Amino acid sequence: MIYDVAIVGGGPAGLAAAVNARRRNKQTVLISKEIMSSKIIQAHQIENYLGIPQISGPELMERMRKHAEVEGAINIKDEIQSIYPEEQLFNLVGRENAVEARTVVLAPGVSTTAEIAGEAEYAGRGISYCATCDGMFFKNKSVAMVGYIPEAEAEAAFLAEICAKVYYFPQYQPATDLDSRLVIVQGKPKAISGEGKVELLTTTAGEFEVAGVFIERAGRPVDQLMDGLHVENGFILVDYTQATNLPGVFAAGDCTGKPWQISRAVGQGQVAALSAVHYLSEVMG
Ligand SMILES: Cc1cc2nc3c(=O)[nH]c(=O)nc-3n(C[C@H](O)[C@H](O)[C@H](O)COP(=O)(O)OP(=O)(O)OC[C@H]3O[C@@H](n4cnc5c(N)ncnc54)[C@H](O)[C@@H]3O)c2cc1C
Repeated sequence: MIYDVAIVGGGPAGLAAAVNARRRNKQTVLISKEIMSSKIIQAHQIENYLGIPQISGPELMERMRKHAEVEGAINIKDEIQSIYPEEQLFNLVGRENAVEARTVVLAPGVSTTAEIAGEAEYAGRGISYCATCDGMFFKNKSVAMVGYIPEAEAEAAFLAEICAKVYYFPQYQPATDLDSRLVIVQGKPKAISGEGKVELLTTTAGEFEVAGVFIERAGRPVDQLMDGLHVENGFILVDYTQATNLPGVFAAGDCTGKPWQISRAVGQGQVAALSAVHYLSEVMG
């Protein structure tokens, strides 16, 4: 099926885009790495969302999610790895799914986790953000997985099937029933180093000789999503219609800059969806 609008990210921006695209009767798919935005889940109490003086983050998120569901947006739990333009179409490739759509709304939020020293330097030389994509390169070798979100647990368990040893560094309160093959280490990553490729992970719990370091965060650098997307200081550049420099691609929410606030994300999500609808009728005919 070819969707009219594909939305990447299921936080407030993405969900607002989904509701509004559906209200304009567009075939809409929302692909999100997490069912609920981990940002909002962390918000204990929200007191600045207009019309709702006090609400917990998880409750507001659940209401938003249900709203999009009621409007009929198709929801896919997956992480989009890359988006390729094809003739009059975009091909969104996730870890497990591929989706085709005429327009795209990018709403992946931002990662607030600081990069590990050496992370950028060793990208592609032992640093990976996708166990499914790169795990086989490390068959029978020792690797580390630094998990900032619970989704990393399944990825680490997959690595344990093929790697000689997997050190798992949870940066959150992990589940109690983690895969027994994982070597759980409670420590913070400090630096990645090696002679031209990853060889050592230095952490607050000591040094670990590894051939690869896998990193699982809530978001990946936005410029890795699409070739040619204009990004400045880590934020996607948009105009007042939320259009990016790539025709048919719009962006909304924290990924477009500060202030990082729910109301802004929701407003931008709505504008992005309506701009996508306008693009479909005016440009694509
Ligand atoms: C502790 C805390 C408290 C806060 N309190 C408030 C408050 O009181 N009031 C307020 O206004 N704001 C608050 N915020 C900020 C607010 O949560 C954000 O501004 C808002 O969530 C941004 O929405 P978003 O949709 O742009 O991004 P996000 O909410 O970050 O959602 C992005 C979603 O996209 C998913 N994603 C990322 N990459 C991909 C990919 N490649 N493929 C598929 N999915 C992907 C992520 O997993 C995530 O689910 C708080 C934030 C935190 C952390």
